Amino acid sequence: MESVRKIFQVGYGPSSSHTIGPTKAGMIFKERNKDADKFKVDLYGSIALTGKGHLTDKALFRVFGEDLEIKFDFDTHYDYNPNGLKFYAYKDGKLIDQWLIFSIGGGELKELGEEHAIDYKKVYDETTFDDILKYCHENNLTLIEYIFKHEDQDILDFAKQILKAMFDSVERGRNKEGKLSAQNKLFVKRKSKDYYERYKKSGDFDVLVMSNALAVAEENAEGGTVVTAPTCGSSGVMPGVLKAYYDTKRFTLDEIAKGLLVAGLVGNLIKTNGSISGAEVGCQGEIGSACSMTAAAVLQLFGASNDIIEYGAEIALEHHLGLTCDPVLGYVLIPCIERNAIAALRAIDAAKYAHLSDGTHYITFDMAVKSMTETGKDLKDEYKETGIGGLAKHIK
Ligand code: SF4
Repeated sequence: MESVRKIFQVGYGPSSSHTIGPTKAGMIFKERNKDADKFKVDLYGSIALTGKGHLTDKALFRVFGEDLEIKFDFDTHYDYNPNGLKFYAYKDGKLIDQWLIFSIGGGELKELGEEHAIDYKKVYDETTFDDILKYCHENNLTLIEYIFKHEDQDILDFAKQILKAMFDSVERGRNKEGKLSAQNKLFVKRKSKDYYERYKKSGDFDVLVMSNALAVAEENAEGGTVVTAPTCGSSGVMPGVLKAYYDTKRFTLDEIAKGLLVAGLVGNLIKTNGSISGAEVGCQGEIGSACSMTAAAVLQLFGASNDIIEYGAEIALEHHLGLTCDPVLGYVLIPCIERNAIAALRAIDAAKYAHLSDGTHYITFDMAVKSMTETGKDLKDEYKETGIGGLAKHIK
């Protein structure tokens, strides 16, 4: 399994698979074709269907310039992955290079048939939570000690930088008012600032959590800078909770950074054994994973045992099983923004529930990941980031 660093990528929203991944792919392709005088790109599957609403075109224009030719190809599908892109480079009218690449979620890229992302580097031998718990038990390690044993020495500094980027996006979002516009088709009012004012009056911690999560999700919807945790669409859940603990001075930055790393391990396990892509498994892979990761972070903060952390992460994922991805008109606005705020509170609930228990449970985290993956395969395509099923069907 690779480094927990890969889960947390800082980039432009609103979608890790539709903006961060394509931006990264575009930059690689442009770099390897410095001589080219013209570029084209074809978008397939989910990227073609929701690429406009998810601002894929805007992200690619940022890389190649406004004269890039983009074709939204609704007919070509690859069973390997629903988020395909094919880049073409030309010189003096002649095709000099082409590259088929898949944006698999979380900003990661794979070539057709590849098992691992293109820049995969193995850091952990264990690939399941059961194996990690066993290893930790045999070596008398907590989960955070296990992470420190395997990652580079500066991993805690990395986590603090990521927290800073997350907290910045909360600050930016909570200071803005007005409407979020989706190319004049759908208007949604920003709510974060209002919720923050209400928190200041009431001191209600839950309202602070919601305000923070909304702030990031609203920033993301407008294509602002966020941190994938594990994706852009679900990027509000973790900062929603972690910044609330930081703002209310319940934990230090170092303690919260350790929580973030344990969350990264959970996200890594889901990515390795299942998927964090809404286009592959529906929103259970995005919001469900974010909730699971955040529950693990909370339990790490409260000093829970390895077994209880695994239980909390499992509860949070289990109770999102079957959650569909149905962004209205293809924009990451409805249901995505509210979903971040609700999942942030759910993460705290899942952590509390696990912490109060004696730890016995039948369904393990690994089983929940398997179920999520199987459920995701069984979901009709309409419910996997196409913007044509579920809630999306009822607003034209
Ligand atoms: S519904 Fe969920 S998975 Fe789909 S775009 Fe919104 S946040 Fe992402």
